[in-house]
Amino acid sequence: MDTKLLTEKDIKVAADIIKNGGLVAFPTETVYGLGADALNAQAVAKVYEAKGRPSDNPMIVHIGRASDIGQLTPRLSPDIVALIENFWPGPLTLVVKRKSCVPDRTTGGLDTVGVRMPDSKIALDLITWSGCPIAAPSANLSGKPSPTKAEHVIEDLQGKVDAIIKGPDCRVGIESTVLDVTGDTPTILRPGVITAENIEAAIGKKVAVDPALYVNRPRDVSDEEFKPKSPGMKYKHYAPKADMTIIEGSRDKVKTEIERLRVLNERIGNKVGVILFEERAFIEAAHDFFAKLRELDKQEVDLILAGAMSDTDGVGFAVMNRMLKSAGYNIVRV
Ligand code: AMP
Ligand code: MG
Repeated sequence: MDTKLLTEKDIKVAADIIKNGGLVAFPTETVYGLGADALNAQAVAKVYEAKGRPSDNPMIVHIGRASDIGQLTPRLSPDIVALIENFWPGPLTLVVKRKSCVPDRTTGGLDTVGVRMPDSKIALDLITWSGCPIAAPSANLSGKPSPTKAEHVIEDLQGKVDAIIKGPDCRVGIESTVLDVTGDTPTILRPGVITAENIEAAIGKKVAVDPALYVNRPRDVSDEEFKPKSPGMKYKHYAPKADMTIIEGSRDKVKTEIERLRVLNERIGNKVGVILFEERAFIEAAHDFFAKLRELDKQEVDLILAGAMSDTDGVGFAVMNRMLKSAGYNIVRV
């Protein structure tokens, strides 16, 4: 397939592709998304195919105006209204009951749908000109690190999608927080830069965190046996080509251990990459983490040594969630 490389000036060309059931990759503030008309099951099926994504992994539906959530869900609770007022447009996905117009293909057969209004002019313009909500998972091949720069999308999807809008690097760098608001207690299914604390401040009540997110999943538990509430959280994800080990402990010990392992591995002929963010620079870590993984893959390192981020519920927790998956839960404590 011939993939058109577009810029924001070509937004109407891109919107026509979506209207006609095609696929367009586009920037958002979190990561690049691969979009299709969310209400067109055949178009959505092509997204799964292009990414090689498991079909039970639902897509997030992106809308251009907050009020458009009414097309997708029958009722808005006071919590949902408060969350929309506080965090949209922005990196918060709300899992709500779906209306029957939302195809099974889009929700992975669930009776709920994840909805978000992105905080990116290009994304909002694309949705507006397309005239439909846009289902968009991250625009990477399934299993690879999420794309935060146009070049990452081109690497993964050129030849597999109708068009790619080349925009700026993504401001946030990790995917949205996914919050289930279908029950009495809102529950975080995927952590992101909007934290439990931020959400609690907005709605004035405690939120829960899917306990599966706290589990350092043992390597011998298969995807099938691991059952977080968000289907996508169980799959192998974000994996660099290199072997990856996370080192956790006090800062000094982590630095010393990384250096020791680096030297030993280089001595036996391995090329080693290191990911060590400033101690509490969680926002920067979120911004850079996926790009760093792709950069180290390009350098063809054999081993990545990464320093753990110590944060039990904030943005660092969201980064650690990605880091653990990238490393296949391979963590060493010092
Ligand atoms: P991605 O599109 O790659 O950002 O992944 C979307 C994430 O949102 C996956 O982890 C999905 O499992 C999760 N998600 C989307 N819709 C729902 C839903 N209706 N219920 C639970 N999780 C959802
Ligand atoms: Mg993804």
